[in-house]
Amino acid sequence: MTDLAIIYSDLFAKHSMDRAHPEKQARLDEIVKGVKELQKELNYSITFFQPEYIREEDLISVHVIDLIEKIKAISLAGGGMITIDTTLNKHTYDIARLAAGATKQAAQLVAEGKTKKSFAIVRPPGHHAETNSAGGFCYFNNIAIAADWLTNKKGYKRVAIIDIDHHFGNGTSHIFYHRKDVFYLSIHAHPMYSYPGSGYPSEIGIREGKGYNVNIALLPDVTSTDWLHSLQFGLDIVKQYKPEIILVSVGFDSLGGDPVGIMNLSPNAFICAGYLLNQLAEDTCGGKIACTLEGGYKIDQLKEVSKKFIQGLLGNKPFILNKFEKSATSEQTNSMLNQVRKALLDHWKF
Ligand SMILES: [Zn+2]
Repeated sequence: MTDLAIIYSDLFAKHSMDRAHPEKQARLDEIVKGVKELQKELNYSITFFQPEYIREEDLISVHVIDLIEKIKAISLAGGGMITIDTTLNKHTYDIARLAAGATKQAAQLVAEGKTKKSFAIVRPPGHHAETNSAGGFCYFNNIAIAADWLTNKKGYKRVAIIDIDHHFGNGTSHIFYHRKDVFYLSIHAHPMYSYPGSGYPSEIGIREGKGYNVNIALLPDVTSTDWLHSLQFGLDIVKQYKPEIILVSVGFDSLGGDPVGIMNLSPNAFICAGYLLNQLAEDTCGGKIACTLEGGYKIDQLKEVSKKFIQGLLGNKPFILNKFEKSATSEQTNSMLNQVRKALLDHWKF
């Protein structure tokens, strides 16, 4: 069994937006370079898999036909625009289906015991895509399609999605807002200061899904210490959910200096995050964890941060974690965590 399955295709390059757009293939090129370096450096086996296009029935299970047809029609016409920052070229429909297929494959390889850990390195990203709308550089919701496939086709009763991208994954949250078989935890920049303008701690889900949506919204310039304490706080809730498998929306846009972000994480925060996620998976579901890429636009550091994240994910305990754990959380972040606690007191133990 390989230690880590990477699902990636050079075909992702075919989808492109404006030349100046931050969501571009160079991001993936850097991350893949990093993975190839790790293949040589680490005592782990890392295996590349070619993705398959998502099947229409899996797409329809999450998105309305109107959205699918709209993306298909614009692509067939040679390209166009969905929102001002989310445009299509003639390949977008196919490549968005490939990104969804890759993410589903990442989940499938783990679910079927081919590997314990996987990472779909994809573009376009997916977590802003809603059931009936595209936006925020996203067309189809890759991770939601994978989670829905696990519950529908594989009989999973408790799938946890952990979204560590800088931005709130509005699409993922809303798709599962009324469901308890898919838990959603997101740690993101506060909606008052960042796209998409939602993701408050009071948004905890509805009906059967009440309590199964956890939002931790952090103020601008948040430090690695505060971010990691917040992540640990969220992971302690996920642990109580007892997931059977963990899916992760990985974004590197919380890194300090990211052109799209307003957070201030150091690269070392990502090795710690990878390690904490790995620990949670080992403690709850036999280490089963499937990741997919969302954002991250600081091209010159993407190789470094993705390598660090993967090293942590593979169980390498970073010595720096201890330093972060011993540092105090700021008053602002403590107050946010109190808000989250208050909103969820009836549902989880704190
Ligand atoms: Zn993002």
